[in-house]
This record gives sequence, structure tokens and C-alpha cells, in this order.
Amino acid sequence: MNPPMITEHAIQAAYLAATVLFILSLKWLSAPATARRGVRCGEIGMLLAIVATLLYHGIVDYRWIAIGLVLGSIIGVPLGLVQMTAVPQRTALSHAFGAFSVVLVGTAEYYLRAPNVPGFTMAVLAIEVILGSLTFTGSLMAAGKLQEVLPQRPITYKGQNLVNLSLLAIAVIIAVVLVLHPHRMALFPLMIILPLAFGVMMIVPIGGADMPTVISLLNSYAGLSAAAMGFALDSKLLIVAGALDGSSGFILSVIMSKAMNRSFTNVLFGAFGQVQASAAATGQARNVRSASPEEAAGILAAANSVAIIPGYGMAVAQAQHKVRELFDALVRRGVDVKFGIHPVAGRMPGHMNVLLAEADIPYDRLLDMEEINPDFPQTDVALVIGANDVTNPAARTDTASPIYGMPIMDVDKARTVMVIKRSMSPGFAGIDNPLYSLDRTLMLFGDAKGFVGEIVKELAGHAAAAH
Ligand code: NDP
Repeated sequence: MNPPMITEHAIQAAYLAATVLFILSLKWLSAPATARRGVRCGEIGMLLAIVATLLYHGIVDYRWIAIGLVLGSIIGVPLGLVQMTAVPQRTALSHAFGAFSVVLVGTAEYYLRAPNVPGFTMAVLAIEVILGSLTFTGSLMAAGKLQEVLPQRPITYKGQNLVNLSLLAIAVIIAVVLVLHPHRMALFPLMIILPLAFGVMMIVPIGGADMPTVISLLNSYAGLSAAAMGFALDSKLLIVAGALDGSSGFILSVIMSKAMNRSFTNVLFGAFGQVQASAAATGQARNVRSASPEEAAGILAAANSVAIIPGYGMAVAQAQHKVRELFDALVRRGVDVKFGIHPVAGRMPGHMNVLLAEADIPYDRLLDMEEINPDFPQTDVALVIGANDVTNPAARTDTASPIYGMPIMDVDKARTVMVIKRSMSPGFAGIDNPLYSLDRTLMLFGDAKGFVGEIVKELAGHAAAAH
């Protein structure tokens, strides 16, 4: 075999290995205990794929690639260091960059091949640039809304859906014309510009609360456009990786919609944030009972079983390490401590799992909502730390509530409920929580990290006094 043949075989072998690693990575990412291994596996797969691509004989000059690598690293490293709470918008930016590169590659491929582009190639190039373009602007808009540089509230007007879908429909018609007449090169830029506009218009009527679900959907579009690129470039690795990305993004958005009891069409066309604003305005002052860290520590120390329900506030306060100290202090006292994880607690899927894993809480103490809900009536204390919407009993009973039907953590069924939050402010859905005015509920007002720290101190004091 001559050297180019050996290199070609090595490249194909590396691509095959990378494909297997991507599949294993996804499998392992689905459970907290194996998630770290999954991340490593994905990283190695990606490194292999990049190195193998750099060996490609068609590369004539490495200088531009080197410049790209340096620029990409300068942008990528700080992006990787953002706060956990900013991960959804960071992910949206990654999708935007990925989609943009897909559009650039698709455009280059078309102009390199035009006017003689076979029908199939033209069709996949069209899918690639249409999905890539709308994902690019859609993801930038989503990131802007989550970062609050753009207004979070949905902006709607009459006939909006018709206008938006018409933009997309015209782009698809142009794609069909290009498949039939690939030499009409002047049409190609239009097939990019229209979906770019659609991407912006698609996000305008969607409220900030739905952005994580939308980002997950855009993730799936980015994956599909990469798979289309794989067909255009005849790269099996890209086809598989794109299909994995496309399907996992889609499954994730379905899971998230289900966990919020929303349909896809409701997320995309429901203008959810408007309901939030009006619901928040109807909030009334209610009688609530509050307690001090000392009282809370006393109740926890006397309990046999405690269920901790973390939410977005725990992430904001970065309280996970203090929560770990509380867990240790209670376990030392012989208390049975479990964590109840709602699928959409926090601001991204798995948000709570990641934080609690960071604090080394044993995985077998983390229970999904369906597992822990039947236990609440036998639980002495449900300690809610910075969670709000996911504990709101109105979701079960109030048909007028915007979150009606969303499955919730049944904390109100525990013997005593204690809620750590700073004020009576609503959570993400912007609505009142009747849990706070129940007789069995005690509000523990304060920052989650500070309040849990105080409880831990009090428990240490109790323990010292007992000796
Ligand atoms: P919520 O947003 O409902 O409530 C968080 C609560 O944390 C607030 O009420 C706030 O009250 C409190 N809080 C904020 N900062 C602190 C702090 N430093 N210390 C103590 N408390 C604090 O969070 P949940 O996790 O209960 O619910 C998640 C929401 O996000 C749901 O509505 C869900 O649908 C939505 N969502 C989640 C997604 C996901 O994938 N996880 C995706 C899309 C949407 P206060 O200001 O009084 O302190």
C-alpha cells in the first residue's frame, strides 16, 4: 500500500472509532454515575475526529486552519468558564457557531460545484443551509433573551405565524427550484437570507421561560443540518454525529415539554411569558409563618426522615457544598435524607444533578420525582431549597394557573414543609405559590447558601451540647 492509502485507512479507522465513542458517550451521559465517563468519551471522540480530518490529503495549506484554531480557542476557553446558571445561553451560542459553520461549508460546496450540482447533492445542501441559517439566528436570539440583552417577554402581532411560516415556505420553494435548476446561482443567497430572518422572527414571540426548550430544539436542527452536510461531503462520521445530535436534542425537548405539561406547539406558538406577567399581577399578600435557622435546625434534628428539594435558587446561591454539609450533619444524626429532583428544576435539564454531583452527594440519595412523590406523606420534613414552581400545588388544582397540569413535587403532603428563599417573589413562571401559606409550611427567609450554613452551625452546636 502506498502512503496516501495508509493515511486514508487510518483516517477512516479514526472516524469509525470516533463514531463509536460518540454513541457510548451519549449512553453514559444518561446516568449521573457514568456522566463524567460520557463527557471524557465524547471529548476523545471529538479529538480523534479533528486529528483525522487534519490528516486529510486534500488540505493544501495549514495556515488558515491554525488561525482558526487559535481564534476558536480564544473564544472557546472563556465560554467554557461561564457560571453554571449561564450554561443555557452558552449552549445556544455554541449552536449558533456550529450552525454558522455548517452554512459556510454548504455555501462553499455549492459555489465550488455549481452549475453542475446533482439533484440529491443540491437537496441536502439546501436542507443544510436552510436549517443552519435559521438555527444560527434563532440561537443568537435565544442566547440574547436568556442573557437578558433582549426583552424576555414574547412579542406578538396579528398574523405573526402566517408571516413566519411564509418566510420558511418561500425558502423551501427556492430550494425546490434550485434542485431542478441548480444553475440559477442568484437564488442561493435568498435561500440563506430568508431562513436567517425566520430564525429571528421565530424566537420573537417565545417568552424567556421557554428558551431552554427552544434551545434544545435548535440543537436538534443544528444536528440535522450537520447530518445533511455529511451527505453532501460524503462523511459517515458527520452523518452519524449529526443524527445523534438531532435525535437527542429532539428527545430532550420532548422530555422538557412533557415535564412542564406543555405541547410543542404551545411552546413554539403559545407566547407563555404573557400569561406569566398577568398571573404575577394578580398575586395577593398572604399570611405566612417564618422560622429562624435555630428553629429550623431543631425541627431537622428531631426528624427521622428529610427530603431535600433543590431548585434554581440553590444554583444561584451556589449552595450545593453547604447542602452537602447539611446532608452529612443529618446523616451523622441517623436521619434518613433523600433528595427529590424535578426534571425541570433549575434552568436546564440535569441542572440539580450536576450541582449535587459537584458536591459529591451520593447518587443513590437522588430520587426522581416519580420515585420520591409516593414517600412524601411518610416524610417528616420536606426542605425546599430555592425551588418554587416545581413545588407549586396550584399545578394540581387550579385550572386557571399557567402551570396547571405540570407534574410537581408533592412536598405539601409531607408532615412539615420548610422553604428556603429570600422573599415572597415568584419563580420563573411568575405566579404565586399557595404552598407558602399552608399551616404546615415554615418559610426560612434568606440566601440559600447563608441559611443552610446557619442551620449547619446550629446542628453542630446541638451535637456539641449533646456530648
Ligand atoms: P423557580 O424559578 O420556580 O424558583 C426559584 C426560586 O429560587 C425563586 O422563587 C427565588 O425566590 C429563589 N431564589 C433565587 N435566588 C435565591 C437565593 N440566592 N437563595 C435562595 N433562594 C433563591 O425554580 P424551580 O427550580 O422551582 O423551577 C424551575 C422553573 O424553570 C420552572 O418554571 C421550569 O418550568 C422552568 N424551566 C426549567 C427548565 C429546565 O430545563 N430546568 C427549562 C425551562 C424552564 P426569591 O427571589 O424569593 O429568593
